[in-house]
Amino acid sequence: MANKKTNKSALKVQEAIPQPNAINKSYVEKLRASKRAMQNAEYYVKGIQNGSRTILAQAITIIESSKAEHRALADEILDKCRAQNVDSVRIGITGVPGVGKSTFIESFGKLLTAKGHKVAVLAIDPSSSRNRGSILGDKTRMELLSSDENAFIRPSPSSGSLGGVAQKTRETITLCEAAGFDVIIIETVGVGQSETEVHSMVDFFLLLMLAGAGDELQGIKRGIIEMSDAIFINKADGNNIENAKLSKVQYANALHLFPAQKSGWMPIADICSAFHNTGIDKVWSYILKYIELTKSNQYFEEKRKEQELYRLHQQIETKLKQMFYEDETVKEELLNAEKEVVQSNKSPYKLALALIEKWRKMDIK
Ligand code: GDP
Repeated sequence: MANKKTNKSALKVQEAIPQPNAINKSYVEKLRASKRAMQNAEYYVKGIQNGSRTILAQAITIIESSKAEHRALADEILDKCRAQNVDSVRIGITGVPGVGKSTFIESFGKLLTAKGHKVAVLAIDPSSSRNRGSILGDKTRMELLSSDENAFIRPSPSSGSLGGVAQKTRETITLCEAAGFDVIIIETVGVGQSETEVHSMVDFFLLLMLAGAGDELQGIKRGIIEMSDAIFINKADGNNIENAKLSKVQYANALHLFPAQKSGWMPIADICSAFHNTGIDKVWSYILKYIELTKSNQYFEEKRKEQELYRLHQQIETKLKQMFYEDETVKEELLNAEKEVVQSNKSPYKLALALIEKWRKMDIK
């Protein structure tokens, strides 16, 4: 920086006038310290089991954290929570923005809490990593449900790749179940990226659609329709009822053309109005029928086991990546390798292999 006296630039920066400190520094320090102070896994697990939503939320934050120092604690909490055997149902709900997902989840959630269930609503939002927004960020969208003491609403983790976000959601399911939530709803935007991920973590997959608009218009891919256990045409109210009934028949016909599902379940199409609260109870009765069928033919268990296997592989992948990229030698060598690729036009393939080889031979702590 140039010395003040010799600075002849026209762009002079006026020195700031010191302001009295309006913030109570010692209070802020205390607050920071209390935030930093991590409790042990036992504390979180007990709190979760005792139904403390504050502690559940804190534990989810630890799980979502990308900080290396939180990882061991997160793994321990997860492991302890996983040991609980909870009789739950996990439901995936998708549909384009505006189809009425949050209105639906509010009505559906209220119906379930009135029946004595504890409902957790989680979200996977593929757009959140880009714009830091979240489909559930705005809690006012589910005002009634979020103030229901038997409901827990958690917005999508707002960073990381879709795979990473999905993995965190999967782990959050485990914590919510340990906290006694027996109905877990995973909401996602039906734009094709996250549905496969959601499908791989739920028991029942519900697609919400609008009447009159074609699939392409609604941006719904054929694959999403194919993986749905139920398609509900929402906004079947007012002048829209007849249209909705027509769409229901069209979707029911389309569903019949798909090959039979391994579950033995024949996917259904029906209508509802989330806004007027009609047809919502039908969704629940279909889900109960689905559970009854798939528990009696063992598909329910089989699918959950498959999902656990997926989790195993995903966990290995994540941990390996973390171990590799967080290794100090690797960090250094990777910088060199990057230079060699950019400046010396060296083969990225060979360099990658050499680096992995070198890491493999190092002592893994
Ligand atoms: P999301 O983006 O899929 O979560 O959709 P929202 O739940 O935010 O709903 C989008 C708009 O559709 C809102 O203005 C809702 O009030 C409206 N809406 C949702 N469900 C219904 C319904 O069943 N009937 C009617 N008429 N409007 C609805």
